[in-house]
Amino acid sequence: MKWMLNDLIVATGGELSTQSADKEGVGFDFVSTDSREMSTGGLYIAVKGAKFDGHAFVSQAVTQGASVVLASEPVETSVPVVLVADTRIALGQFAAWHRKQMPLKKLIAVTGSNGKTTCKNMIQHLLSKQAKVLATQGNLNNDFGVPRTLLQLTDEHEYAVVEMGANHHKEIEYLTQLAKPDIAIITLAAGAHLEGFGSLEGVIHTKAEILSGLQDKVGVAVLNTDSPGFDIWQDMCRERELSVLTFGSTAIADVHYEQFEQSSDVIEFDVVSTADKVINQGKSHVVAPMLGEHNAMNACAALTAVMACGFKLEVLTPNLADFCGVSGRLQKVSLPNGILIDDSYNANPDSMKAALRTLVALPGKGLACLGAMAEIGETSASAHAEVASYAKSLGVSYLLIYGEAAKPMIDAFGEGAFWFESHQALTDKAIELIEKDSLNHCLVKGSRSSKMETVTQGISEYF
Ligand code: ATP
Ligand code: MG
Repeated sequence: MKWMLNDLIVATGGELSTQSADKEGVGFDFVSTDSREMSTGGLYIAVKGAKFDGHAFVSQAVTQGASVVLASEPVETSVPVVLVADTRIALGQFAAWHRKQMPLKKLIAVTGSNGKTTCKNMIQHLLSKQAKVLATQGNLNNDFGVPRTLLQLTDEHEYAVVEMGANHHKEIEYLTQLAKPDIAIITLAAGAHLEGFGSLEGVIHTKAEILSGLQDKVGVAVLNTDSPGFDIWQDMCRERELSVLTFGSTAIADVHYEQFEQSSDVIEFDVVSTADKVINQGKSHVVAPMLGEHNAMNACAALTAVMACGFKLEVLTPNLADFCGVSGRLQKVSLPNGILIDDSYNANPDSMKAALRTLVALPGKGLACLGAMAEIGETSASAHAEVASYAKSLGVSYLLIYGEAAKPMIDAFGEGAFWFESHQALTDKAIELIEKDSLNHCLVKGSRSSKMETVTQGISEYF
C-alpha cells in the first residue's frame, strides 16, 4: 500500500466516519474522482461538480474496488469514509503533504499564457536523458490535475515538472502553494483567457502568483524579458531576494537565442548564456524538428530551467534534436508541395499571430484555415479583425474562416477571405486551393471549441 488511511486523516484533518468498522491495515495506492475509472485499492474522492455530485457514485466506486472514500457528507458504504469540509481542498492538502515527503532534488513549475505544455514537455525531454523525472500528463494543469500529478511522485523521482494553468485570479497561487516549486517559469503574459482576468494587467498579476510558492532567498524565478509584465515580476523577486534568471530574444536576457532559421523540416538557432550567476555561460547550436520562432523562446525557457538544476548548456542542446514538439501544436503534415501546419489544439490572438508568422516564414504561398477564438471577452470582434489584418499584412494568400465569432475576419482580410458554416465545406475549399492554386503550405488553427483538428484530418486524409 502506498498510503495508509491515517496518512489521509493527518494530511487533511478529516474525521473517520463512525460507521467505519474495520480500518486496521486499510490503505490505498492511487486516487480518483471518477467512479468509472476506479479499481481495486483506490481512494475514491466524491466531488460536487457543476453537473454531478460525486457522492451519488460512492457505491459504484466501492463496487469497483475503492478501499477508502473521501467525502464531504456522510455516505453509507462498507469501506472507511474520511469526512472533510471540501473534498477538492482535501485533495490538494493530501497532495501537498505527499509532495513534502518526497526527496525531490528540484520541482519546476511552469505557467504563462502560451507555451506551458510545450515548455513542460521540453524540460521533461531534456531532464529524462539525465535523471528520473515526473511530468504533468498532457494538459492536466488545474486544481485537480496538479494534485494528481503530485500524488504520482515516488521516492525514485529526482525532478518534477508541473504545468499550472488558470482561468481566474488566485488559481495559480493555490497550485503553487501545493507544489512548492524550487524553480518557477513564467513563459509569457499575453491576452489569453481575458474573460476571467479583465485585462492584460490582470493576466500579468495572475501569472506572478506562481512566484508565491517559491521560498524567499532560495527560489529561482525564470522570466521572459520580452514579455509584458517582466519589470513587475522582477521587482517582486527582488523584494523577496529570489534569484532571477531571464530568457528572451535579445542579449539583455541571461539566456537568449540568435541566428534563428526555419525550413520546412527544422528550426535552428544558437543559444547564448551570458549569466553571471546560478547557471553556466556558453553558446551552443540547436537543431530541432519543430516549427516556429516562439519555440526558440520556449527552448530558451526550458534550457534555462534545466541549467538551473545544474546541467550544462552544451550537454543539453544536442538533446533537442529529437524533440518533435507536442501534438496539435505546430505539427507538420506533408502536402504535395509543402506542409500543413497543424496548430489546431488551441488559439488566442497572440498564438494566432505566432502561428501566422511561422506560416509565412516558409518559402512559397500560404493558406490559413482559422477557427474562432473563444474566451477573449469583449475584445472578441476587434481581436478577430486584428488577426485577419495581420495575416493580410504578412502576405497570407487566402484565409478560410470557421465560426460565428470569427466573422469580423472576413472584411478585415478582404479579398481572399472565405467564411464557412461547416468544417467539411472549409476542408473542401482548402483542398481545392492546395490542388488547383498550387498553394504550398496550409496553417490550421482555432480555439479548442472550434475543433479545427477536423479540418487537419480531412486535408491530411485527402493527400
Ligand atoms: P493551454 O493554456 O491550453 O494549456 P499552453 O500554455 O500549455 O496552452 P501550448 O499547448 O504549449 O501552450 O501551446 C498552445 C498554443 O500556443 C500553440 O498554438 C502553440 O503553437 C502556441 N505557442 C506555444 N508557445 C508559444 C509562445 N512562446 N508564444 C506564442 N505562442 C506560443
Ligand atoms: Mg497546456
